[in-house]
Amino acid sequence: MNRNVVIVGAGPVGLVTANLLADAGIAVSLVETCKDLPRDLRASTFHPPTLDMLERFGVVGLMIEQGLICPTWQFRDRSEGVIATFELARLSPDTNHPYRLQCEQWRLGEMLYARLRDNPLATIRLGTKAVTARQNANGVELDVELPDGGRETVEGAFLVGADGIGSIVRHAIGAGFEGITIPELFLSLSTTYDFRETMPDLSNISYLSDPREWYVLIRTAHVWRALFPVDASLEDRDVTSPERGERLLQGAVPRSQAYDVTHRTAYRVHERVASTYVKNRIAIAGDAAHVNNPLGGMGLNGGIHDAFNLAEKLVEVVGGAPLETLERYSRQRRKVALDVVQQTALRNRSILNTREPEARRAYHDELRGIVEDSERHRSYVMRTSMIQSLRDAAKIP
Ligand SMILES: Cc1cc2nc3c(=O)[nH]c(=O)nc-3n(C[C@H](O)[C@H](O)[C@H](O)COP(=O)(O)OP(=O)(O)OC[C@H]3O[C@@H](n4cnc5c(N)ncnc54)[C@H](O)[C@@H]3O)c2cc1C
Repeated sequence: MNRNVVIVGAGPVGLVTANLLADAGIAVSLVETCKDLPRDLRASTFHPPTLDMLERFGVVGLMIEQGLICPTWQFRDRSEGVIATFELARLSPDTNHPYRLQCEQWRLGEMLYARLRDNPLATIRLGTKAVTARQNANGVELDVELPDGGRETVEGAFLVGADGIGSIVRHAIGAGFEGITIPELFLSLSTTYDFRETMPDLSNISYLSDPREWYVLIRTAHVWRALFPVDASLEDRDVTSPERGERLLQGAVPRSQAYDVTHRTAYRVHERVASTYVKNRIAIAGDAAHVNNPLGGMGLNGGIHDAFNLAEKLVEVVGGAPLETLERYSRQRRKVALDVVQQTALRNRSILNTREPEARRAYHDELRGIVEDSERHRSYVMRTSMIQSLRDAAKIP
């Protein structure tokens, strides 16, 4: 019987899954609708346990070379300044990488793609769009549209949908995708201006709360990225207009000179979790299974954690373990998405955009209390760096 695994989507989650399976001696067919790997600017935060996991691919050294190590991150108030600075060195006993790494996700994608291409067990089909999927007791079938418009059916023993938020594989297993769409758009602006000139105590990753307009500043190896909430009823071209960008940046950090903005992108943000991640021989992972707001950088990291968990179970099942083993993946990773990722991202958004002065003061006092108490500080960074959720999930039968 055909023992190969068909994977839809060559985003970071599909590429991690494909590399893990091919390294374990399992043939993989990776199907990706784009002709080239996307290079657009998306997530850039890698948390400590994700770096620990990626070490086995030999890519972390290169990511560090191309990225920026961030040993702290902070909550600030736009007028009061620093509220709390969290120190990731407190995780030293628990990780080889006690810091966040800022490195654009497409860089990891290219490294993993290059590595997979060298593996004879991998077949990569770019420019090939998955259309529908089905399964029977012995295997799966995926109908695809070829670059020339023709159709074909790819067969396999198992199917992984790592095909992002609009996943056709999620539809194929009939999973719901309950949740909300956040009312505001998120506008990301990249600038060459170094915000530390104005705020010398600024961490490389800073969340700035304000009763009128919160924002986030994230430094990468080359630029600073500023993220603002924007009214979703505006026309697309208005949202990303140079005038709006300049107004937002000047409002946040006034300067006599105009900002040099090298990149602008606006996106809609959802908070949703699929009702199941597995149906018999078909599983979903990453954005196909869960999406959340980017405050905390947990979407991409959570997706990579899914890939490691799922690949481990697939190796067991291909090796003869019962099919139900895959359901444990769904139980473990779905609980993390619901109880940790969604909750933390929601709370971060709430800390940033709460307007009521007393609630703001209470949040700030709580954050100050956490950093001053070394046990609470450590447990907070264990949770926000996602180490704790991996440990907790491993205990779920
Ligand atoms: C504009 C933008 C900005 C973002 N910024 C942040 C951020 O700042 N911080 C953060 O944590 N997260 C951010 N995210 C989210 C983050 O990028 C995702 O969590 C991450 O990409 C998920 O990886 P994935 O592999 O699951 O899905 P994706 O990266 O979406 O990859 C899915 C892949 O599947 C392919 N595909 C889809 N449908 C099909 C099909 N039918 N057939 C074949 N192939 C298909 C797609 O082309 C794509 O390559 C952002 C997302 C966007 C869109």
